[in-house]
Amino acid sequence: MARIVQKYGGTSVGDVERIKKVAERIKFNRDEGNEIVVVVSARAGVTNELIARAKAVTPHPSEREMDMLLSIGEQETIALVAMALHGLGVPAVSYTGGQAGIFTDKVHTRAKIQAINPASIEKDLKAGKVVIVAGFQGVNAEGQITTLGRGGSDLTAIALAAPLKADKCEIYTDVDGVYTADPRVVKTAKKLTEISYDEMLELASSGSKVMQSRSVEFAKKFGVVFEVRSSFNYNPGTIVKEEVAYMEKVVVRGVAVDKDQAKVIVSNILDKPGSAAKVFRALADASIIVDMIVQNVGRNGIANLTFTVPQTDTHKAQKALEPVLDEVGGGQLAIHEGIAKLSVVGVGMKTHSGVAATLFQALADANVNIELITTSEIKISVVIDQAHAETAARAAHAAFQLDQL
Ligand code: ASP
Ligand code: MG
Repeated sequence: MARIVQKYGGTSVGDVERIKKVAERIKFNRDEGNEIVVVVSARAGVTNELIARAKAVTPHPSEREMDMLLSIGEQETIALVAMALHGLGVPAVSYTGGQAGIFTDKVHTRAKIQAINPASIEKDLKAGKVVIVAGFQGVNAEGQITTLGRGGSDLTAIALAAPLKADKCEIYTDVDGVYTADPRVVKTAKKLTEISYDEMLELASSGSKVMQSRSVEFAKKFGVVFEVRSSFNYNPGTIVKEEVAYMEKVVVRGVAVDKDQAKVIVSNILDKPGSAAKVFRALADASIIVDMIVQNVGRNGIANLTFTVPQTDTHKAQKALEPVLDEVGGGQLAIHEGIAKLSVVGVGMKTHSGVAATLFQALADANVNIELITTSEIKISVVIDQAHAETAARAAHAAFQLDQL
């Protein structure tokens, strides 16, 4: 007998038929003699619809009321999954985040989990029930409903797996697992059997969004091993776990493309202490997340700063930077939206040389120009023309023999 936490995402519970299918899968796993705790998301699209409705009522809805509203998406699906299980003769009970003992801080719409008291869940499991928990929500010390940030159901599942000492944590979604590249772009992409937390985090921050990053960070911190797999078939998925030595044999585990960044160039600024600080202070004060940063070597006392920001923030970035241009010597501002960030990720980079050379040669052979480069211990990212994103992804994938994994 094993104790399993399963999370079903929005597409897996997207309509009544799918909810019934999920119930059958839960029954199947329970009939094998397992204890099952299920976390569900809202039906796909529901959270977005609720946000749109709130904004139609007032442009700046109160965050407390947003949580009140958004939490209902998951409350619909937990009740329906429980009812579907009852229909199959399986004892089951649904809980809101608060009822499940998930306590958060006071920050509405992006609360952090502070403590979990799994006593009620434990009691129900002992009584032979399947427990269905609403993902993405908790309760704060004042009894107010909070939500955990978009995609937060993943976090609920991973956070519950730790205190419940689950033997397995399964994240069910609409893809078969984590791939070496987006299979829609790179036809030869392969499903990975396993991947380390760090690789998964780097891939997520590089534009391949399988899961909410916060939940992967949480899993890493608490050592929760989990599997990403599809709810539409019984194929094994991808195991996400702590890095182990043999993982380093593979130099590059995945290629990701992010088309949601824009490139900002602040040129002709004074090459003196404080210039960069002023530019990035202005961006920070506007809550803009800066990703890659490159500063050229100053010449004749003049320097250029180039960096990337989310495309949705380009207007905000322009507004934030214009007033500081004078302060840094009257530089010019240029914004390019037609870029893509291509990243190759792998823990094997720590112990292999020549990774950058291989990537740059592959791009050169594909006639793709590199505009910016940044690296971390396990990642190399380049900014290229968006029109070449797919060609570049295929070239990089082939260069690191990812189709032969
Ligand atoms: N329903 C929430 C969202 O769409 C949480 C989740 O799906 O994980 O962000
Ligand atoms: Mg979701």
